[in-house]
Amino acid sequence: MNVNTEPPNQLNSLPPEGISQRLEAAEEFGKRINMMSELSLKIGAVRTADEVVQLLRSEAHRVMPGECAFVSLLKNDRTQYDVYSICSSDEAMILDQTQFASHEGVAGWVLSNGSSLRVDLNSLPVAPTAVERSMKEKGVKSVLVVPMKTTESTIGAVGFGSVVPNCYEDTDLWLAQLLGTQTALALANTGVLHKMQKRANQIELVNRVARNLTFAVETEALLDSAAQTIRKQFNYFDVMIFLLDHESQELVLAAQAGRYSDFLPTGYRQPVSQGIIGWVASNARHLLVNDVRKDSRYLAYQYQDTSAELAAPIMIDGVVVGVLNLEEARANAFDEADVLVIQTLCDQIGGAIKNARLFEEIKRANDRLLEHDQLKTEFVSIVSHDFRTPLSTIMLAAKSLIREDDPTSSKRYREYLSIIIDQAGKLSKLAEDTLSIAKIESGQLTYQFKIVNVEGVIKDALSMAKITSRHKFEYSVDINASYVRGDQTKLRQVLQNLISNAVKYSPGGGQVRVNVVPLEGDAEQVLFSVTDQGLGIPADQIGRLFQKFSRVDYGKAKDIKGSGLGLWICSEIIKAHGGRIWVESEMGKGSTFRFTVRRGEG
Ligand code: ADP
Repeated sequence: MNVNTEPPNQLNSLPPEGISQRLEAAEEFGKRINMMSELSLKIGAVRTADEVVQLLRSEAHRVMPGECAFVSLLKNDRTQYDVYSICSSDEAMILDQTQFASHEGVAGWVLSNGSSLRVDLNSLPVAPTAVERSMKEKGVKSVLVVPMKTTESTIGAVGFGSVVPNCYEDTDLWLAQLLGTQTALALANTGVLHKMQKRANQIELVNRVARNLTFAVETEALLDSAAQTIRKQFNYFDVMIFLLDHESQELVLAAQAGRYSDFLPTGYRQPVSQGIIGWVASNARHLLVNDVRKDSRYLAYQYQDTSAELAAPIMIDGVVVGVLNLEEARANAFDEADVLVIQTLCDQIGGAIKNARLFEEIKRANDRLLEHDQLKTEFVSIVSHDFRTPLSTIMLAAKSLIREDDPTSSKRYREYLSIIIDQAGKLSKLAEDTLSIAKIESGQLTYQFKIVNVEGVIKDALSMAKITSRHKFEYSVDINASYVRGDQTKLRQVLQNLISNAVKYSPGGGQVRVNVVPLEGDAEQVLFSVTDQGLGIPADQIGRLFQKFSRVDYGKAKDIKGSGLGLWICSEIIKAHGGRIWVESEMGKGSTFRFTVRRGEG
């Protein structure tokens, strides 16, 4: 056995023969060096481990003497190595891709010691493996094996065998070591490249899954789509998503895609005290098991084809809510890159579940509110309808009594009747407004548009106020504004609101005037105005009067009772008619409320 890692002294290593022989040997060595550097360049350019092996198979015999050659590559977990024959002739070694424990054979010796081995095949330092036995059968006498070292570790070995005894000299050892290092670096680079490519692919795939997740708003659909997309994009053997039932401390299968889809029913339950997923949920940590047969947590009876399993917790705000579980039929199928992927996926699934749950909660609350709103509207409709019918009867009766010119009826009697009519009118208006509000808010206010006679609507609206009020009422309708398109009852309601406000906010009495003319500059619109000589409205409060519950909180107006809803109802009704409503006012002098409605043909 002869181990040497130093470059040879060229002159000393050559036989002491004639000058010409020395020159020949030097020339020969020079040629091998050239071939070696060409081979190095080619090795440096390959992208996969297979390509490296192919290249050595076709080129290594040009730089190294011998009939047999092989590359041994350590596996990721460093407990085994694979042997690849790199002989140029196919029959030279039949042991291609055979696996050995990392300490076995000549390659095992080199891997364990990190040193080169130049040895006679009959005096090996280790028990021969099938590789050595096969070489012996081929008549191999001498063997040279060198480590493939990167800057960080030994990743394999390159070996050569020759039928010539003591075939390998220092120059061969040195060239083999050079080849070993070049190959190791190339393989390490291809590994990096491969990992980088895998990572880039995974990032793209994770993004695709994330895009899919953002579309789903219901948890069940969301998890289903997550499992399907992860399985499709990453091509995992099986994907399962479990949700944690905190009460029973069980993991419930919520979605799955892949080979076990028919095997476990959705809703399958597993206690958190059991299995790999149970461990992950209890410990809130991911678990990578590259050979499930060797892990006691694995529930073998359930998933018979599984060799490797990777599971990670799905968390919301630091609390485990489920587990994402990936399975592969191949042992060692998952690596650290997969761990990163699963963690990122779990983060995204957690976020998506949180959003979906919030959405579901909001939807439930909204449904409840809608239901309540519906009930409220129905209730209000019934109540206001039931109010208005007897009120109309009361008013009708009182009105006919007051009209009867009975000489026996005292002034007091007439006054009381006026009060009854006035108060019943107010109640009736309140019931109508309340009903309108409930309907506007629930979007149930319906309109019946037709051609409406303007004078008829004004008379209707005035009739209520006129009877009891001491104000002076006047109205005028331009001949070109006699008809509008609208809902007669709603337009009457608007006018009635504006007229009763005009009366209410003119405590000193005065004139209330309703005017209807074509809108200047737009013959298709009709302009209604209701003018009073009352309190007026402060300029800074005018802007918000048509908002819900808005009231003037200034001077005498403050003491007059009201709800702040009448003008809001008016503006909603006028909006629905496609018109505008506004007010012009001067403090102490009075106000004019105006609105527009589309003109109609009489
Ligand atoms: P309410 O009269 O029930 O308070 P409205 O929505 O009808 O509610 O009116 C909103 C506010 O606008 C009133 O509180 C009042 O301050 C003011 N307002 C309405 N009409 C007049 C008016 N003709 N003159 C002066 N102020 C008015």
